Amino acid sequence: MSNIETIVIVGAGQAGASAILELRGNKYEGKIILVGDETHLPYERPPLSKDVILKPEDTKIEILSEQKLADLNIDVIRGNGVVKINAEDHNVVLKNGDVIAYDKLLLATGGAARRLPTFDALGKHVYTLRNLEDSQALVPVLQLGRRLILIGGGVIGLELASSARYKECEVTVIEMGPMVMGRCSPQILSEFLLEQHRAKGVDVRLSTSIAACRLDGEEVVVTLAGGEELRADAVVYGIGIVPNAQLAVDAGLDVDVAVKVNENCQTSNADIYAAGDVATQIRDCGNHRRVETWENANLQAGIFARHVMGVEHPKANPAWFWTDQLDINFQFVGDMAAAQWLVRGEMDVAKGADNSFVMYGVTDGQIVAGITVNAAKEMRHLKKMISKNTAFEAEKHLDLAQDLRKIA
Ligand code: FAD
Ligand code: NAP
Repeated sequence: MSNIETIVIVGAGQAGASAILELRGNKYEGKIILVGDETHLPYERPPLSKDVILKPEDTKIEILSEQKLADLNIDVIRGNGVVKINAEDHNVVLKNGDVIAYDKLLLATGGAARRLPTFDALGKHVYTLRNLEDSQALVPVLQLGRRLILIGGGVIGLELASSARYKECEVTVIEMGPMVMGRCSPQILSEFLLEQHRAKGVDVRLSTSIAACRLDGEEVVVTLAGGEELRADAVVYGIGIVPNAQLAVDAGLDVDVAVKVNENCQTSNADIYAAGDVATQIRDCGNHRRVETWENANLQAGIFARHVMGVEHPKANPAWFWTDQLDINFQFVGDMAAAQWLVRGEMDVAKGADNSFVMYGVTDGQIVAGITVNAAKEMRHLKKMISKNTAFEAEKHLDLAQDLRKIA
């Protein structure tokens, strides 16, 4: 039995919802208060760039229903976010002035789209994507024949490019860097992705900066650094996130853009934890690292819950995430900066969504990362090889006659 009376969770998103399930799953019987600034119950964000736009009627994104929250005996506050943490007094102040006391506090406030003020200043036809309303606003924008400029060739940009091509929009992606998905993909896979998008008619501009933007009637005019003018019906930009860490800054917690946490997800105040996109966690190498993925939000919420309950928590897994683009499922695990990448199977741009292959990331002879392309069932074998510090052997690991399940 825990003697903690009240746990307050700030942020009703992925990590917040997962923390509830983990606390109750680990037999926490005290009070849990979930405080969200959105009016919705916790929901999944991954479908926001895909199915919520493509098939809104058939897409369910709720993580915890009203009934489930009632069954778990959770007090839910919606549309009334936390505006202040009084760490010494162990309470939080809500937007409407209410004060709620806690014994332990979890910050699960996620992040917000990084802004491009020159585009925001246009006042219309400019969008970002972080929450359900943002996604719903894109449904009428992504329609047959509409011209769309996507700024940022990261996951948001490419997933939206894919959705927009399904809707037969004319799509241009403008990426400042030399690669698409440059933050989370090795060059060889990035080049494959680039060619997939180009083959499907997406006009991808790499190493391209924007000099200016303006409205011309109902058109957005984007001037590139080289002087070329592009015209579109709408612009969506996805240039990364800024963690929602201001509450932590104001409370005097240790923050470096994100909220710094130790291996137990504790901040510099032992009664305040952080998990998910808002947190940056200490790693074995001694540096802090932020991981902006669905799995990491769940994992850190689990670490928080177990630590609060005094239950041992497993060591963090190598980071894993997926992206679905142009009918291809990509999954990534481990260190994307691996020294060498080797392909098992055939990587053939011309085969489009019929591609199916596996990639190993190898550093100093050891498998440290893996990618599956339309080969999701092989991912768990790659994870196993990484966790076992498996030495890479070309004749074994690249031989398609060898079953990965047996050699992992
Ligand atoms: P969130 O889920 O964003 O939840 C944070 C919540 O806190 C929000 O509801 C926010 O409004 C609320 N909040 C903020 N401040 C306050 C406050 N002061 N008081 C109360 N509430 C507050 N990851 C993958 O691995 N695979 C994918 O395919 C994938 N697709 C994605 C697609 C999109 C469009 C987006 C936006 C993200 C995607 N992600 C994906 C990333 C993944 O969804 C996030 O990493 C995950 O949601 C992070 O969870 P979180 O709980 O930290 O933040
Ligand atoms: P992101 O993946 O970090 O990519 C942003 C891209 O925009 C980067 O390539 C960045 O280049 C580029 N960029 C930055 N400033 C730019 C500018 N002024 N002009 C043109 N390009 C610019 O971020 P995101 O795509 O916006 O995604 C936001 C969040 O949603 C992230 O947390 C992401 O993990 C999450 N998300 C995840 C998934 C998934 O996992 N499948 C899907 C959608 C969203 P530099 O790297 O050179 O700065």
